[in-house]
Amino acid sequence: MARLLVPVGACGDAAELAPLLRAATAAGHAVAVAWFGPPAELEAARRLGLPEPAHAEAPPPAAGPPARFAAATAFAAEVLGGGRWDRLVALGHGTAVAAFVATAGRVGLGVLRANAGQRVHAAWPPGDRERRVVDHAAEAWATASEAQRLELAREGLPLADLHVVGSLWPAALAALPAVPPSGQIWLALEHAHRLQAAPLAALLAQLAAAGRALGLPVAAAAAGLQPTLAGHGLVLPPGITLADLDPREQLDAARAARALVTDSAGYQELAAVLGVPCLVAAAATARPEAILAGCAHLVGHDGEALAAKLPWALERPVGPSPYADGLAALLALLAGPTAAPTAPSATAVAPLADRLPSDADHSGRTLGDDEVAFAAAAIRSGTLNSTRGTFVARFERDFAAWLGRGHAIACSSGTMAMHAAIAALGLAPGDEVITTPITDMGAITPILYEGGVPVFADVDRATLNVTAATIRAQLTERTRAIVVTHLFGGPCDLEPILALAAGRGLPVIEDCAQAFGATVRGRKVGTAGTIAAFSLQQGKHITCGEGGIVATDDPSVARRLFLFVNKAWGYGDAAPDHTFPALNGRLGELAGAVALAQLPKLDWVVSRRREVAAALHARLAPLPGLRLPGDPPYGTHAWWRFAFAVDADEVPGGALALGRRMQAAGIACVPRYVQKPAFECALFTDWRRSPITWLPLQQNPRLHGPQPPFRREHYPGAVRGLEQVVVLPINERYRLADVDRVAAAISAALRELRRG
Ligand SMILES: *Cc1c(COP(=O)(O)O)cnc(C)c1O
Repeated sequence: MARLLVPVGACGDAAELAPLLRAATAAGHAVAVAWFGPPAELEAARRLGLPEPAHAEAPPPAAGPPARFAAATAFAAEVLGGGRWDRLVALGHGTAVAAFVATAGRVGLGVLRANAGQRVHAAWPPGDRERRVVDHAAEAWATASEAQRLELAREGLPLADLHVVGSLWPAALAALPAVPPSGQIWLALEHAHRLQAAPLAALLAQLAAAGRALGLPVAAAAAGLQPTLAGHGLVLPPGITLADLDPREQLDAARAARALVTDSAGYQELAAVLGVPCLVAAAATARPEAILAGCAHLVGHDGEALAAKLPWALERPVGPSPYADGLAALLALLAGPTAAPTAPSATAVAPLADRLPSDADHSGRTLGDDEVAFAAAAIRSGTLNSTRGTFVARFERDFAAWLGRGHAIACSSGTMAMHAAIAALGLAPGDEVITTPITDMGAITPILYEGGVPVFADVDRATLNVTAATIRAQLTERTRAIVVTHLFGGPCDLEPILALAAGRGLPVIEDCAQAFGATVRGRKVGTAGTIAAFSLQQGKHITCGEGGIVATDDPSVARRLFLFVNKAWGYGDAAPDHTFPALNGRLGELAGAVALAQLPKLDWVVSRRREVAAALHARLAPLPGLRLPGDPPYGTHAWWRFAFAVDADEVPGGALALGRRMQAAGIACVPRYVQKPAFECALFTDWRRSPITWLPLQQNPRLHGPQPPFRREHYPGAVRGLEQVVVLPINERYRLADVDRVAAAISAALRELRRG
């Protein structure tokens, strides 16, 4: 039987701790609570079931964080002195817990960390730092989910001591008397203070409007929201009321609610256990496992998305909670470090402290037990082809909803997605399709296969993207379509391109393979053109190894896309026939299951990449001779890659020399990206090489013009741009330490090169 000390400083943690403390005492452990917090909060914690503390102290009145931490540390030293304890049990991450955990380390007391691995993935470093500090000071860890366990493994903690126990909420809720349903939408914004006035006002206005439309009142606790509203000079829109509730009453309000809208990680777990629909208003705190299980739905701070998704979320059944009842397993861990470790996970991740996270393996990907579970379910179903299975169909439906388009058709690769898009144009032999000379060849060859001639528009030297001006310069009588590629995740300046295309009646195909979640004037790329194509290949934002998906709003285009990946066999037609030449480009159910599991993580992936890019930008900005990428004035970057330009006048040897030094320092990078413009590849330098290139050209006037038809002197932007670019593969798993390491290597390489 162990002597356990439990520091508590926030009444919010009391509800979860109460059943654990009762059970530990019943199991014969000597359990003592040390409270460091205001007496009023202690009162609230008691109402949430916290046992009477053996030690209690209040922080000095009106003290700032450093003084509060100093006082908490002194209190901790006093309580922990004398070696009276076998173990510290830490849940939560406030000042009191952080001070006790740090002090335990100094006096050699082991820490069992409950609720470990919760992370806030956004530009919210202070909160996240506290979580990390508390987590990393422990010697054994209990997490609520596999996702959190992987988070800790990624940070280098020993896998054998990371235990998925589940959640304490089932036990906590079981101990509370029932509450009658309130029919309210409960708004639990714990981080409202992090929002600017305008987005907060928009969020509240849209939520109120959605509530009115549904006939559901919206309520929130005054304590959380009132100070922020006052600070911004905002008034609540009609339809939302503030209630003066203590924490116990707030918990009851959440339990009674028809739905929760929250920006808190903890509430998502609570909602999943309660089985109440939950909308997550902050990508930063999204819990992937809750979202994947269909218990929570991510809308971010976007009020419109919230209003659109609320009625849908209320109609859908809430998925089964991904959180097991964690009480018994946590109790077993309390017995000591000898407790049996959980079986190694199917996706066990060894800590990789010594190299950068890579999208070539688990270290830089979001593949985990969610994908394993879905793939296993697909196998158990016994149906692995998508014509009869359900996973690819669900992925298509959910992807169309994520993108905001009427139809999405999955297929076997990004190349196949582009091919379907081109095929849907119904080109005549020799018709021209304008595209870019800097892209994946999988986006260009389909034009030839469909009998068209790819015509290359130059790119902007800084972004390596095509522009309305470079496209206009290539328009001819034979032009039938325009392909725009949002390279590296940086969106093209779409408005003038769309205007140009509309003026000529030309469809626009957006190649979004590298740009999931990039935006132009507030709209996702892939929503403005006629057709959008995406790749799910290993290195893209989300992946199923190989795969693609193509989307449109036009039902007749959608039909044609579908037919193209299905050998043009008219499934469902009255008299089906093979109506045009097409291959089998379907995605299989195994890959579809993985893609479906990946999709809920996509917004998180994009937001994480945006943070990583911002951190990298901040560190590289002071260095001479570099031109850094960023959000364009008209939109937001999705950061597939961080591609920066090196000025050879300032950096001897330019991109190539810098790239080589970075590689030598262990920083994977690709100077000059695809090395040369596409039209300099062998398949274009000799068009006679294959009937696929030769036949379309024979039907086009360019056959009689100068040969080869496309030459580097006409592409100064592409040639200069490629000469200068170094492509850095960042990903959503980069930690600040990784960013520091990359920046330090670049800085050192620059210094050496400039020294000569
Ligand atoms: C990856 C990619 C493709 C091709 O996708 P695959 O799935 O590899 O066939 C097409 N276009 C662009 C811009 C890409 O990055």
